[in-house]
Amino acid sequence: MSLRRRTLLKVIVLGDSGVGKTSLMNQYVHKKFSQQYKATIGADFVTKELQIDDRLVTLQIWDTAGQERFQSLGVAFYRGADCCVLVYDVNVMKSFDTLDNWHDEFLRQANPPDPRTFPFILLGNKIDIDGGNSRVVSEKKAREWCASKENIPYFETSAREDYNVDAAFLCIAKTALANEHEQDIYFQGIPETVVETEQRGGCAC
Ligand code: GDP
Ligand code: MG
Repeated sequence: MSLRRRTLLKVIVLGDSGVGKTSLMNQYVHKKFSQQYKATIGADFVTKELQIDDRLVTLQIWDTAGQERFQSLGVAFYRGADCCVLVYDVNVMKSFDTLDNWHDEFLRQANPPDPRTFPFILLGNKIDIDGGNSRVVSEKKAREWCASKENIPYFETSAREDYNVDAAFLCIAKTALANEHEQDIYFQGIPETVVETEQRGGCAC
């Protein structure tokens, strides 16, 4: 029986309600976009497998269940995260202004051993809206914020147009991999052809 080594990386996605967190995940994992706004119900995660160099990596991407409106995400959500993805909407100033809160809240809740080096990534989403004419946060301003936080990588994305989504998540995976800690999991006899899986924890209605 062959044992194949995979690395499980937990990624959590944070940011104000409505910025497109669920849409970015759906676009990345399912290649789908929905215009309809549906607050996520039930804390859940999706998984995506990818190969980085010679490593087989399982990204476990955790979505909030809409509780971000109350800033009350349970400790299980944060526990053991390998990377924290912060998302704001380039057309909504408030969603940029609250990034500091999300950043600090993550560090307080996840309590990583070295907060200064813990990997974050920032995504400025919805750059497609109105051909960019309605954006209120400039790329420069976003990059300055990233520079002030130990040089967080920054991507401008559109979940709707599938713009930069794969590139952002590849960077997320690489960054998380660099931070991984004793989370390797072993699968027995899983066929090589399984490249993408989905799992849902909790209520998926
Ligand atoms: P969440 O609350 O952060 O999970 O946000 P959602 O993913 O539920 O998205 C909120 C709304 O914004 C939905 O109506 C989405 O269709 C829309 N949306 C998300 N991403 C984009 C995008 O990149 N461009 C546009 N135009 N709309 C988006
Ligand atoms: Mg959501």
